[in-house]
Amino acid sequence: TPPDLIRNFCIIAHIDHGKSTLADRMLQLTGVVDARAMRAQYLDRMDIERERGITIKSQAVRMPWAGRDAAGTETTYALNMIDTPGHVDFTYEVSRSLAACEGAVLLVDAAQGIEAQTLANLYLAMENDLTIIPVLNKIDLPAAQPEKYADELARLIGGDPEDCLRVSGKTGEGVEALLDTIVEKLPAPTGDPAAPARAMIFDSVYDTYRGVVTYVRVIDGNLNPRERILMMSTKATHELLEIGVISPEPVPSKGLGVGEVGYLITGVKDVRQSRVGDTVTNASRPASAALGGYRDPKPMVFSGLYPIDGSDYPVLRDALDKLKLNDAALVYEPETSAALGFGFRCGFLGLLHLEIVRERLEREFNLDLISTQPNVVYDVTLDDGSQVHVTNPSEFPDGKIAEVREPVVRATILAPSEFIGAIMELCQSRRGTLRGMDYLSEDRVEMRYTLPLAEIVFDFFDQLKSRTRGYASLDYEPDGDQAADLVKVDILLQGEQVDAFSAIVHKDKAYSYGVMMAGKLKDLIPRQQFEVPIQAAIGARIIARENIRAIRKDVLAKCYGGDISRKRKLLEKQKEGKKRMKMVGRVEVPQEAFIAALSSE
Ligand code: GDP
Ligand code: MG
Repeated sequence: TPPDLIRNFCIIAHIDHGKSTLADRMLQLTGVVDARAMRAQYLDRMDIERERGITIKSQAVRMPWAGRDAAGTETTYALNMIDTPGHVDFTYEVSRSLAACEGAVLLVDAAQGIEAQTLANLYLAMENDLTIIPVLNKIDLPAAQPEKYADELARLIGGDPEDCLRVSGKTGEGVEALLDTIVEKLPAPTGDPAAPARAMIFDSVYDTYRGVVTYVRVIDGNLNPRERILMMSTKATHELLEIGVISPEPVPSKGLGVGEVGYLITGVKDVRQSRVGDTVTNASRPASAALGGYRDPKPMVFSGLYPIDGSDYPVLRDALDKLKLNDAALVYEPETSAALGFGFRCGFLGLLHLEIVRERLEREFNLDLISTQPNVVYDVTLDDGSQVHVTNPSEFPDGKIAEVREPVVRATILAPSEFIGAIMELCQSRRGTLRGMDYLSEDRVEMRYTLPLAEIVFDFFDQLKSRTRGYASLDYEPDGDQAADLVKVDILLQGEQVDAFSAIVHKDKAYSYGVMMAGKLKDLIPRQQFEVPIQAAIGARIIARENIRAIRKDVLAKCYGGDISRKRKLLEKQKEGKKRMKMVGRVEVPQEAFIAALSSE
């Protein structure tokens, strides 16, 4: 297809504003998916995506749409719709998907208005110089207020409120007009067809049968089947086994030229060899400079993952190896915990990423896992000038510390203005600094904060939701690091440190963390034959203490010597329980106690 008949666009929206539903309608109206084959959220392929209603991996579909060219003649355009992941953890993937487009449909729920991720994605789109088409969705809802939110949108992006399109992804109303607008308003791609090829990778997924399928947008030149290609960041070359477009299933083609969006298959088995943001070029005639914007994925949140049944360790290792094929951002290394046994320290882009990986491990590989409290990464400088990069709180160095640095984020919170006080209170209690505040309309406000990432990782979003009756939305992005007054709090059982419970917390919160953990464990650990002190300590200094009193645990005494089968059952049960006991020094701790203590309430 010649570039002037191509339009590349994405849909950007806050979660639940109807992006997937609108994409479904477009697939149907353009005839790419017929009504019989249609299932809701066609593009959300992974099971977890469909169940949670979120889009994790982006996908690209080519759709034909009849329009008129500049001379007024009927022509068929090729619209490439690139679906972007909607969640904060995947900002980098979103920004690469956007860079593959000339325009963006900015979709806003006409009953909700602009939300935090609407803004975050809009700013990313503007950084990529995309043409924005503002669209109000769900106009079929009785609660829709298209006039009000058209004003809000126009104020945000400039222009006339009347230029906001009004659609319903559910009924299909206005969607044909939107497709026409995409053809009219979005610029055609431009590029040099004679130059060496440069194509940007915006997604890469592992397929059991075909190996890695890489999604690319061609900027300059041509990619052709059977030629050798070069990945510019790794310098690796591969043979192109297949190249094509998705419509909506893969269709091999004779090549991809300027402005085209499609997939390529090289037979590599690991997505790390085909990384999002990298530039693909012809091996025989390589481009001199890569396209900008490539970035190594950087894990922000770490957690220890342990199999509940220790004999599952090899299964967990294999499962992580398999998931990694499809997830360039996942990192892990073996780790041993005195309390939890053999496991892995894993790094994630954020909390949702952690949850998704954990859920996939449990579901797809049939594993039962314990995960330790998520923590961020700390850079510790000791008095002698040496530096330690801490991804596991129990490895935090003792004593002689000159400085501790922690990652911070720039957060944007949108909420009705009546909640300003409640939000400020929450952010202050989480060591936040207010950076600015703007009114989007009389009753809606945007607040910008700098916050330590560690404070967001721990139930921040839940707190924000409950303090604003669910009305606030949040988005954040990494914003460097800062020095902070942080200490390591250890938990000791009968004088033995329980590594899984060590935490790095701000000095002002150390005491309350210690009291809380000691109290939790006191309730969770059964009495032993001897007294067990539980202590919280910073270095050698004890900051909290509880006691578990001694008892003689004789379960059979309860049976009054009578019913023998009941006695046997109890003995069986006790034996069963024993298997799941972990020893911390002389103290027997049921595994359930660890799990319960590690779960956030
Ligand atoms: P996404 O998170 O942006 O992909 O949103 P979805 O497409 O998954 O939609 C979120 C919810 O809104 C679902 O329950 C949809 O059925 C509903 N929805 C989407 N579009 C419309 C619409 O135009 N009208 C109505 N009434 N509901 C819609
Ligand atoms: Mg969706």
